[in-house]
Amino acid sequence: MAKKVVVIGSGFAGLSAACCLAKEGFEVTVLEKNDTAGGRARQFRAAGFTFDMGPSWYWMPDVFDDFFAHFGKKVSDYYILKRLDPSYAVWFGPHDRMDVPADMQALESLFEHHEAGSAAKLRRFLEEAGYKYRVGMQDFVHKPSHSVFEFADWRIVSSLFRLQMFSSLSNQVRRLFSNRKLIELLEFPVLFLGATPQKTPALYSLMNYADMALGTWYPMGGMYEIVRAMVTLAESLGVKIITGQEVNQIDILKGHAHRVMTGEGREYAADVVVGGADYHHIDSVLLGKTCQNYTDTYWEKRTLAPSSLLYYLGVGKRLERLHHHNLFFDEDFALHAKEIYETPKWPAKPLFYVSAPSVTDASVAPEGCENLFLLIPVAPDLKDTPEIRERYFDMTMTRLEQLTGQSIRDHLIYRRDFAYSDFVQDYHSFKGNAYGLANTLLQTAFLKPKLKNRHVDNLYYTGQLTVPGPGVPPSLISGQVVAKEIIKSHFA
Ligand SMILES: Cc1cc2nc3c(=O)[nH]c(=O)nc-3n(C[C@H](O)[C@H](O)[C@H](O)COP(=O)(O)OP(=O)(O)OC[C@H]3O[C@@H](n4cnc5c(N)ncnc54)[C@H](O)[C@@H]3O)c2cc1C
Repeated sequence: MAKKVVVIGSGFAGLSAACCLAKEGFEVTVLEKNDTAGGRARQFRAAGFTFDMGPSWYWMPDVFDDFFAHFGKKVSDYYILKRLDPSYAVWFGPHDRMDVPADMQALESLFEHHEAGSAAKLRRFLEEAGYKYRVGMQDFVHKPSHSVFEFADWRIVSSLFRLQMFSSLSNQVRRLFSNRKLIELLEFPVLFLGATPQKTPALYSLMNYADMALGTWYPMGGMYEIVRAMVTLAESLGVKIITGQEVNQIDILKGHAHRVMTGEGREYAADVVVGGADYHHIDSVLLGKTCQNYTDTYWEKRTLAPSSLLYYLGVGKRLERLHHHNLFFDEDFALHAKEIYETPKWPAKPLFYVSAPSVTDASVAPEGCENLFLLIPVAPDLKDTPEIRERYFDMTMTRLEQLTGQSIRDHLIYRRDFAYSDFVQDYHSFKGNAYGLANTLLQTAFLKPKLKNRHVDNLYYTGQLTVPGPGVPPSLISGQVVAKEIIKSHFA
């Protein structure tokens, strides 16, 4: 009889673990509280628009290639990928937009235009970043990170200096470049990792390599195509995905999880349980106190990645001067970062991001219309109210209209908001975090919440709050890592 695995949550990590375990012959059931799979990457349709609800940047295409290759498949078996050019635009003020080209020579010219001598420095910077990317992807991210000793082989130890684990990304960038715009351009990718460039190890310039060398891609149809692909793959491997099933208890007997119960009154017997929902929720809500991996105090001391205030907007006309990805850096980056991490409060003049996938993909908006996704990063645990949502909507729309020189608000035909309380309600997100724990030095690798429960011999965790970290590619990898551990520890 095949061993039964119950996976809680159908985000990228849960689906990835489910596929890997099903391939090895396990009988896998995924239980998902929401009506559709995909977790933070769900999609919805309204007024003729198709909105991706969370991730919009497709970076590190090699991670997706490797994932599907493990099953003898290719990305192109499931969706069409398009490389974006320009990769994205950064707005520094009205009529002050920097288009970041996909082509490396054009990128070097852009750097040179802003700061003499910076093209050669960029080349050196990206060579180092490429080294970090290769070592990071080969030697770091696939480690289960149970203990520091996994990192004690000579290759890793000898590379630590070059990997720049102990200096900050900000210092590295500022040593090489002095132009403010170039600095902000190079510091922006680590914001995906949920910490400021000052608190992020310079190791993570590997994100610049992902950005500038590997490129920004888009799956035609939207980011949800990745979820569709994984669901199709999982089902072809025999995985049962049951939506609308909210797990409310993991039943433990003598240190062993033997079944999972849902709010709908159903029970699922299990030989292994994989918690793919937010770690804190699994640990603090679904388990009894004696089985928790971490205390409330531990969680209170974690630095979380930001939450987000999101607006999904349908505009009844085509817009000008917007690219697919647009970063609005017309206000003070440092002040906004301070209001997220140091003195958490609603930001006075936030930076924001606008994705307009309809610029690339006609299928996501009715003809002659534009699909916009507007994101403001905010500190976690800030309760939102309808007034706050309205205030920030007004503030960002005014700036968006002024900066791009066109009216937008008067042409809106659809609007939906999503904020702190939605993150908590829809995903049981701890403090409303959008993308897990910040990747600071003290929350990296074996210092992250562990992927195995210490008190329950067959309970594992996966997803953006454990190794290797936040983001779509790391969540995919997290599912692969946990599956390997389960196979090794229980059924080898
Ligand atoms: C607004 C936003 C923008 C982002 N942008 C990007 C980007 O551009 N690029 C990128 O790479 N990453 C991005 N990310 C991060 C990325 O989306 C996440 O890191 C990744 O999707 C997390 O996957 P996961 O499987 O760990 O968690 P989730 O996607 O949260 O999956 C967990 C699942 O568990 C379910 N669940 C919770 N509790 C229960 C329960 N009790 N019973 C059953 N099911 C339960 C949830 O409903 C959810 O479906 C973004 C995230 C957000 C929110």
